[in-house]
Amino acid sequence: MFPFWLKGGIHLIQTLINLDLKRFKKNSVLLKKENSFFLKSLKKKNERKLDNSFHQLHTDVFENINCLQCANCCKTTSPMVRETDISKIAHHLKKKPGEIITKYFLKENDGTYIVNSAPCPFLDAENYCSIYAVRPGACREFPHTNRKKMSQILDITIENTLVCPAVLEIVEQLKKIQL
Ligand code: SF4
Ligand code: SF4
Repeated sequence: MFPFWLKGGIHLIQTLINLDLKRFKKNSVLLKKENSFFLKSLKKKNERKLDNSFHQLHTDVFENINCLQCANCCKTTSPMVRETDISKIAHHLKKKPGEIITKYFLKENDGTYIVNSAPCPFLDAENYCSIYAVRPGACREFPHTNRKKMSQILDITIENTLVCPAVLEIVEQLKKIQL
């Protein structure tokens, strides 16, 4: 069984995700308290077992989701950008780092940068990332559900259930596993 916001089962996610994105947003908010409680309860579980379960579900869920039909992360969040990312992007765009910082990024108090608008200025009309080959590490790693030591990033995962339909699905499936 799949969550009520993904009617039809995982094999239909590719065709339904666009239609259900609004519904996903509404229901992810409704589920936030339950998911927060559940994910916090995983902090004390066996780390290896937890990682293996997350990683298997990450693979299964992403095999069935077409991010090009979603792009909710690129539309609604402002990813962190490191100076090394900026150098690569500037080189790719044949611009000086200072030029692209002014145009696309904001400096945070801790010295890191974030993309200065959401939707991301690099997202095109078909949901493709126009700098995909040199996209920031934070974009490359999102939504972090295949990372080692998942027990250390459960708070981020709670927040990501509100952004990423795949994370919400992974968490829903995780609830059914005896850890
Ligand atoms: S929000 Fe999740 S499912 Fe949607 S495009 Fe981003 S990574 Fe893919
Ligand atoms: S840089 Fe690319 S992958 Fe990252 S948020 Fe922007 S469009 Fe999405």
